[in-house]
Amino acid sequence: MDASKPYPRSALVLFSGGQDSTTCLAWALSLYERVETIGFDYGQRHHVEMTVRPHIQEALRQLSPDWKQRLGEDHIVKLPFIAELSDTALTRETEIVLMGNGLPSTFVPGRNLIFLTTAAMLAYRRGLGALVGGMCETDSSGYPDCRHDTLKSLQQTLNLGMASSLYIETPLMWKSKAQIWELAYALGGTPFVNIIREKTHTCYLGERHERHEWGFGCAQCPACLIRAKGYARFAGENHKKNRGAEGSPAIR
Ligand code: ZN
Repeated sequence: MDASKPYPRSALVLFSGGQDSTTCLAWALSLYERVETIGFDYGQRHHVEMTVRPHIQEALRQLSPDWKQRLGEDHIVKLPFIAELSDTALTRETEIVLMGNGLPSTFVPGRNLIFLTTAAMLAYRRGLGALVGGMCETDSSGYPDCRHDTLKSLQQTLNLGMASSLYIETPLMWKSKAQIWELAYALGGTPFVNIIREKTHTCYLGERHERHEWGFGCAQCPACLIRAKGYARFAGENHKKNRGAEGSPAIR
């Protein structure tokens, strides 16, 4: 967003319960006076992410009185047709592999376009001025519907089609996974970093039995590998900065 323009006072955060969308939620809570969340139930293989969402929201309310006051309604929208229409490793029990077009088999064509369009419909009804999403071009799997150009184009289309002036905000767009951990630290310090480590879900396979320094997951799928690598870099940098006991992201 152009820094010279004032932020709209309200936002709808696309909140899946993962590391990125949880960081986006904290980012929005630090900027907007009213924040609501939307989650999508689309037959995802890692459906466990839907169950961690309320626990994360409760933890954020406990972390900051300001955030508690700003965090409003949570909306769950069912989009079962996504799994019916697509044959991908996120919606079927198939192997996660690289496809002939260079995209991983976890790519669900059109998913983020549907998510954002659905969110825009809700934001319109709720009078919310911005959509906030954790889409990212860096350290991502190269999903074309996460690209900056795609989202800016969609923003224009939505505003033309709904005669609205919504902003699509993507605060993580140019950040590496390590920088996303760093942003979480800047927003809420060690307590917020620990909420992300303990409560968020990233693993594509829905694995939450094994606990690692960076959180729960299978430690082998692409989502786990990216999260673990980013955390290791963040923790190393943090250690070098010698932030002391209060700033250390070490396990408590
Ligand atoms: Zn995993």
